[in-house]
Amino acid sequence: MTFARTLRGDVAPQTLGVVDAHDHLIRVGGGEVYLDPEHQLDSVEKAVEEARRFVSAARNWAPSGGTVVDMCPINCGRDVEKLAEVESQVDGLQVIVATGFHQAKVYLETQSHWVNRYSVDKIAELVIADITEGIDVHDYSGPVVERSPYRAGVIKVGTAYGRITGFERKCIEAAAVAAIETGCPISTHTSAGTCGLEQAELLISLGVPSDQIAIGHIQRNADVWYLTQILKTGVYLELDGTARLKYQPESNRIKELRELGEAGFGDRLLLGTDSGKRSYQKAYGATTGVDYNPAVDGPRMLAEGFDGGYVEQLLMGNAQTFFAFRKES
Ligand SMILES: [Zn+2]
Repeated sequence: MTFARTLRGDVAPQTLGVVDAHDHLIRVGGGEVYLDPEHQLDSVEKAVEEARRFVSAARNWAPSGGTVVDMCPINCGRDVEKLAEVESQVDGLQVIVATGFHQAKVYLETQSHWVNRYSVDKIAELVIADITEGIDVHDYSGPVVERSPYRAGVIKVGTAYGRITGFERKCIEAAAVAAIETGCPISTHTSAGTCGLEQAELLISLGVPSDQIAIGHIQRNADVWYLTQILKTGVYLELDGTARLKYQPESNRIKELRELGEAGFGDRLLLGTDSGKRSYQKAYGATTGVDYNPAVDGPRMLAEGFDGGYVEQLLMGNAQTFFAFRKES
C-alpha cells in the first residue's frame, strides 16, 4: 500500500484532501525568529484558528478537509508536540511534518553546528530516525534525544541566494541518503527562486529519483522558460508566496500555473502559501493566510477560465501523488 506519513500515522494519500504543500503553523524560536521576531508562531490557539480557516475553505473542494505540510525543519524552532495539539483540535486537518535542514543563514553561525562536526552518514542517520522512529521532542537542539511518537513525512533542504554553501551541500548529501533509504519525498527552499535547477541536478546526481523531489518557492523566479528547464529534469515545482505583493503581483503565479499547464507539466506543480510570519496569517490580523489556495487561488483560476479538473489537480491530486512515500509500507 502506498502511504503518506502524517502526524496521525500512515494514511492513504487520497485522504489528504486539499494539500497546502509548504506552510507554517508552529515555530518556537530558532534563527529565523532571531533575525525577525515576526517568524515566532508559538501560539497553539492562533494555529488552531488559522488551520480551521484552511479546513473550512478546503471543504469546498474535498469534503474530508485538508492537509498542511509544516516545513519547519531540524533545529529551526520545530515543535512537534504543539503541532500534534493543533491537529488534534481541528476536525478535518492532517499535518505532515518536515525533517531535514534549512539554508545555512537560518542557523546564524555554523562553524560549531553539529552538521559541521558529524559525517554525512551520521547526519543521514538522524534524518532517517526522524522519519522511521519519531521526531526528537528537543528538535535535535541538544545532546539528549527523546523520540516522540510523531514521524516526519517530508525532508527539507535549502540553499542561499544564488549559491549553495558547503554547509548546505552537506545537508543535501545527507538528505539524499535518507530519501533513498526511506522513500520519503524531498521538498526544497530556494532563496528568491535562485539555484532551482542546480538543486534538482545535485539531488538527481546523488541518486534521488527526480519525481521524489519538489523545488520550492520557485514562483519567485517568474521566468516560465527557466521553470520549464527545471521541470525537464523530471522534478516537481512547488509554488507558494501567495499575496506577497512586495515581491510580485499575483498574476505572475497565475501565469506560471497557466503556461506550465499548457506546456504539459500540469501534473508536477504543487501549491502552498508559506505563510511563515505573523503578518501573513489571519489569526494574527493579516488579510490573507494559510487558507489562500482553496479560498482565493482556486476560485480565481476558475474565474480566469482554467479547466476545473486542472484546478483540482493543483489543489489536491498532484500533492497526493508527491507526498506518497516511494516505498510500500
Ligand atoms: Zn517556509
